Amino acid sequence: MVLFCLSPSFAASYKFGSVWDGEKVWKDACVSTEGDRIQSVGPCAGAAVDMSRFTAIPGLIDAHTHLTYVFENPVSQPGRNAAVVFLSQENARKTLETGVTTVRNLGAADYADIAMRDLINRGLMIGPRMFVSGYGLFISRGRNPTPGTADGVAEVMKIVREQVAAGADCIKMYGSTGSGRDVTGFQTFTFEEMKAAVDAAHALGKKIAIHSYGPDGARDAVRAGTDSLEHAAGMDDETISEMVRRKTFYVPTIDHNRYYADNYKKLNYPPAAVDDLNRFIQRNLDTARKAVRAGVRFAMGSDAVYTMFGENTRELEWFMKAGMSTEQALRTATANGAELLAMEKSIGAIRPGYFADIVAVEGNPLDDIEAVIHRVRWVMKGGDVVVDKTTARSTTP
Ligand SMILES: [Zn+2]
Repeated sequence: MVLFCLSPSFAASYKFGSVWDGEKVWKDACVSTEGDRIQSVGPCAGAAVDMSRFTAIPGLIDAHTHLTYVFENPVSQPGRNAAVVFLSQENARKTLETGVTTVRNLGAADYADIAMRDLINRGLMIGPRMFVSGYGLFISRGRNPTPGTADGVAEVMKIVREQVAAGADCIKMYGSTGSGRDVTGFQTFTFEEMKAAVDAAHALGKKIAIHSYGPDGARDAVRAGTDSLEHAAGMDDETISEMVRRKTFYVPTIDHNRYYADNYKKLNYPPAAVDDLNRFIQRNLDTARKAVRAGVRFAMGSDAVYTMFGENTRELEWFMKAGMSTEQALRTATANGAELLAMEKSIGAIRPGYFADIVAVEGNPLDDIEAVIHRVRWVMKGGDVVVDKTTARSTTP
């Protein structure tokens, strides 16, 4: 059973079997909160809620979501967008249940992402803290231009500025083809266009994420100075070294193609798409492995859409396969995600003064990453308990 209790925030103390604060482990420690913030972490003193069966970790950060992509929307235009915001609440709720308390949402139509973010921040909708991009930038692609369509440096700059003016926290640019069952990776925006987007975003104090399925768009995105590179299979060694040098975050989103392959029937993909997806997954994993070895910084991004919410953290399994330690994998979803959002002083750690975003899991995630992926029992976001399954019987998946 899941309980949502948005009680007025008050001071409280919780005793955990252990606490991984994002850097080190505290045994039999207490975390005290006041309002939406963490007050202290350390040895217990005084009364505390007994959570000693659990390990506490910082609220997780999913650096690549599409919370407003709902699988079925029975409402046709006009009014469709209002229904999107309503239906997206389920995606938001399922995301919280995975221990994700913050997301970077990279692409939405009709500014539904901005509406959701604001409703959540005002406490009128339950969901993760959202950092949103508004419309992603696309090159012209046939009949249906969107407010994100841009060709040439001047239009790119204009669209970036429009997204920021509309209230976007960050910018998303689609630098190659490839999405859903289409795993082609032809570069779309040129280097000059990417550079213009990066510079226009940075000039307004915003970070940018560039999507590229293939190596060409990836190379130019990195050279152009993108803050994060999304997907990117088949990168050459030079691009990988450049990412290390520039400290570019790599968000490979390997697991979302696993989701597409598992659900090809539901998504109406032909059986042949499954082979394409699996081949892409293998190339994506091989590239991630090279990047881990080279010392590229990763952020965990699920690229969750439709019914994938609730599986947001399965990406961590791929990071383990790519050669990370459990602690490295956990950092992709804590400290690294926080830095990518320029929120490293507020989230990604259980530390005094930080937001009280705390996840209680059964087991020790530093021994077994599955504890995070499958055994989240309790989630606090900004001092409010948003998921409570602590009375649920212990089961092993
Ligand atoms: Zn995406």
